[in-house]
Formats: sequence, C-alpha cells, structure tokens
Amino acid sequence: MINTLAGPGKYYQGENALLELGKLVSYLGDRFLVLSDDIVYPLVKEKIEIGFSGSEKPLKWSYTSYGGESTQVEADRVGALAKEIGAVSIIGIGGGKLLDTAKLAADESGLPVVIVPTSAATDAPSSSMSVVYTEDGIFVVSKRMRNHPDIVLVDTTVIAGSPLRTFIAGIGDAFSCYYEARACKASGAMNYNGGRGTALAYHIPEYCNLILRENAKAAVASVKNTRWSEALDRVSEAILYMGGVGFENTGCTIPHGVYNGMTAILRPFGAMHGEAVALGVLIQLAAEKVPNDEWNDVVSFYRTVGLPECFAGLGVPNITDETIMQICEKAVTISPNVHKEPFEVDAKLLFDAIKTVETRSKESRQ
Ligand SMILES: [Zn+2]
Repeated sequence: MINTLAGPGKYYQGENALLELGKLVSYLGDRFLVLSDDIVYPLVKEKIEIGFSGSEKPLKWSYTSYGGESTQVEADRVGALAKEIGAVSIIGIGGGKLLDTAKLAADESGLPVVIVPTSAATDAPSSSMSVVYTEDGIFVVSKRMRNHPDIVLVDTTVIAGSPLRTFIAGIGDAFSCYYEARACKASGAMNYNGGRGTALAYHIPEYCNLILRENAKAAVASVKNTRWSEALDRVSEAILYMGGVGFENTGCTIPHGVYNGMTAILRPFGAMHGEAVALGVLIQLAAEKVPNDEWNDVVSFYRTVGLPECFAGLGVPNITDETIMQICEKAVTISPNVHKEPFEVDAKLLFDAIKTVETRSKESRQ
C-alpha cells in the first residue's frame, strides 16, 4: 500500500492576511469570481478591495452572493458564472457549506480554487472533500475533488471575530484527529487518499493535539474578546490545516462514525459537528478502555475549553438506552470509520462505551 501526505497547494495564514490577497493569487491570472454571502461579505469587503489592489498587475473580480446551501444546482450556477465572466479561479470566502460549493464548482469547471475560511468550525477547509446537500439541507453525498484547494488563505483577525461556539466546535473536531489517527495507525486502516499516512502524516495529529493543549484556552479567550493573539493563530492552524491534512492522510474512526449515527437518529440534531465528534472521542476512549490518567486528562481539557462530556452537553438530555442502541446500530451499519479500530467493533461494544461515558459524566457532576 502506498503512503500519502496530500494537502492544499499553498497554505497562508496570519493577522489581516486578506490584505495580501492580490499578491497571493495573482499568479493564477487576472480575473476572479468571489463567492461569499451577504453576512460575511460586508465584513471583509474593504479588506478584499485593499487586498486585490495590492497586486503588481491589475486584477479584476466579480462578486456573487451564495445561495445558502451546498447543492449541486448552486455549484453548477457558480461554475457557469465563472466561465461566463472568464474567471481564472473561484475564491470562496465564508463558512463550511459555502467553501464546499466553491470547491465543487471549481472542480467541475476545471478551475483552481482559493479557500478563505471565515470561521474555524471544522477541519474541512484544507481537505479535498465537498459535501453536497439537497435544498432542504439533507445530506446527499460527500464528494472527493480531483485536487486539494490550490490556496487556503486564513485571516486570523477574521477568525477572532467568528462566533465562539463554532470556534470551540472546531477545536473539538481537530482534537479528535490524534485519537483517530492513533487507532488507524494501530489497525493499519486505509486513509482518505487511498493509502496509509507517511511517517510525518501520523505526526501531524500528534502535534495538532499538543498545539491545542498549549493554546486552546488562550485562543478561546481571544475569540471571546474578539482580539487576535498568537494562541489564536496557532489554534487556527491546528484546526484548519493540521486537522484537515491530518485526518485525510491518517483516517477517521469511532468519533466520526458515531457522529454519522447521531445525525441519522437524533432529528433534529442541534449539536455542531465538532461538539458531537468531541463526545465521540470519549466514546472511543471508553471503547479502548484507556487508563484513567488518559481519560482524566482529556476530560480536563474539555472543561478548559467548554467541550461536551455527555449527550446532555450536546443538547440531548435524558437519552434512553433504546435511542443509544439505535445510534450504535446505525453507526456500525452506515459508517466504515467505526470499523477502522484495531479491534472488532459492533453495536453492543459502542453501546457499552456510551453508557460508560454517560455514567462517568454523571458521577463527576455529583
Ligand atoms: Zn470532522
């Protein structure tokens, strides 16, 4: 089997990084289609204008407002518009779904894509994945693009102004990467690039975890106060680069598998992806029967940043055994990820793990 380490072509990040936009994208050509939405765009418009004007050669760009859902129809519209105006690249500026549409539109029209995340809610922006939904927001398919984003540009001053809950959820998503990579490495499971990680690939989640442990508390305070800091910058990289490149090259396990079970059974499900995945890490650790020290260490990190330790923390109080079993049965059926552990995983094992997590959380609150 081949070993892989694939990721975005170029990753740029920093305080007010958008002001460099023109200089960073001008090698692609001189005409761009900017896809953003009517909430985000007014907040970054001035920076984008200054950014484009900073290029040595004059750049032209057109703005199109996002339709609001990552549908195939919307991707087709954006791709067609890019062709019509002669754009050399699509620049997506916004949240996860908008960025997924930008990736898909660019992939299908054969154009390079520039990804500018304005929040750090998940580790998806650096990945080659694009999730497609129906108009009503129902999951259709998770598509792999032929290429990773050509450029990922992260303005961490913008991230400092993003909603606190999404940032904490992003920490949860990135935090899971190490535990999932560790299990995949032990089992020899295949990653998302059709191989196993290179030596460095397996170290990325480890380093990501370290960065989060050292900086997450201060980074959360930064977002609370809408103030840029070094810690915020580091945690943004952990979420948006290390988490994304990490999971794609190492693989996912129980946290993302159980997440799929949760979203299929708990409807409506008000939790954010990273919040549910964080709970999934505890479920995995319970399934792996890790020593108490490791368990306590993870729980204390969760308390530092405000991640959930039980279903009540996900906004699902008083979950019944029957519902838990339905989630587990769904997870083992629909998700290949739960089967990437170095041991056999069935619904009963997941059920027992969830019960352990719920009991420990209850005990610690008494
Ligand atoms: Zn995730």
